[in-house]
Amino acid sequence: MIDQIYVEEALLDHPRARAIMQRFPDASVTTCARYGEIFNRRAQNFRLQKISPALILAEKFSGHVLPSPPEYAIGGDLNYYFSHMLNCVYDCRYCFLQGMYQSAHYVVFVNYEDFIQAIVDKIRAAGDASAHFFSGYDCDSLALDPVTGFVKEFLPLFRDHPQALLELRTKSTQIRSLLDLEPIPNCIVAYSFTPAEIAEAIEYKAPPVSKRLQALQRLQVRGWRIGLRFDPLIYQEGVSEQYERLFTQVFAAVDSALLHSVSLGSFRLPKAYYRSLARLYPDEVLFASPLEETGDGMVTYRDRIREDLLSFCRDALLKYIPEDKFFPCEPL
Ligand code: SF4
Repeated sequence: MIDQIYVEEALLDHPRARAIMQRFPDASVTTCARYGEIFNRRAQNFRLQKISPALILAEKFSGHVLPSPPEYAIGGDLNYYFSHMLNCVYDCRYCFLQGMYQSAHYVVFVNYEDFIQAIVDKIRAAGDASAHFFSGYDCDSLALDPVTGFVKEFLPLFRDHPQALLELRTKSTQIRSLLDLEPIPNCIVAYSFTPAEIAEAIEYKAPPVSKRLQALQRLQVRGWRIGLRFDPLIYQEGVSEQYERLFTQVFAAVDSALLHSVSLGSFRLPKAYYRSLARLYPDEVLFASPLEETGDGMVTYRDRIREDLLSFCRDALLKYIPEDKFFPCEPL
């Protein structure tokens, strides 16, 4: 799976870096001074690198915990994200990471202790306010968990701080570490879905909807709290029927009374990222959809299409869940 590893020289003896390297005994290992030499190199081809990404083991020195985009909020007073990893093993055509980064290589920041300390500092500073932490902004939270050991290392922090909440956002079936741990009520495993027809067409390498649902069911039966993320909503011919079928399928699989939250948001990208993606995949039907630029520098579906799709999905979802579990990512 990984043929090439780059590791910062200072980390050659780091126990976590060594443990990760030992998982890939046949990979070539190359040292570098700082990961940016590889990851931020100019004139890289994301599409070509995505065929066989390298793994870069690095250390993060600052900015471990940052304010999260407002549309991530699921009821917390203060919202933060942190990224122990950059990039994703899946290849969703709409993913903004392709527009954000020059490189498709995976970066894993192995100094977890610094992230953990930064999270604890934010929890303490929050006082009585509720602080939510999102780990799936720059990567899928679980997809590389067997390699990174992320869940096992970070869950105890939230077990010790029940007033804070962690969201693991994922499309992954890599749930072994969660099944092995005792569930805690302040960790939400949030699964992202698009209808099967769309997932098959543009969520390359991601587990099919049916497998995600099986994983979600196992987690819910084990006692983990579940979130559902219908974000981004993707428009195509016959989309209402497709989302209707998806909601029927999802709510037949989950116990909706035990759900933590459901969120909904339309496809949207910053203009510069959209242009990068459209250049990378000029034949992709998604980018020939009825999209337009908005005044705030985003690209999204034309007003009428976006509003119709959002309100159709909102009304359909509210047949299954109460309003207080529903978190639209944009005004409806
Ligand atoms: S699963 Fe999420 S992070 Fe990974 S490629 Fe798809 S949208 Fe991007």
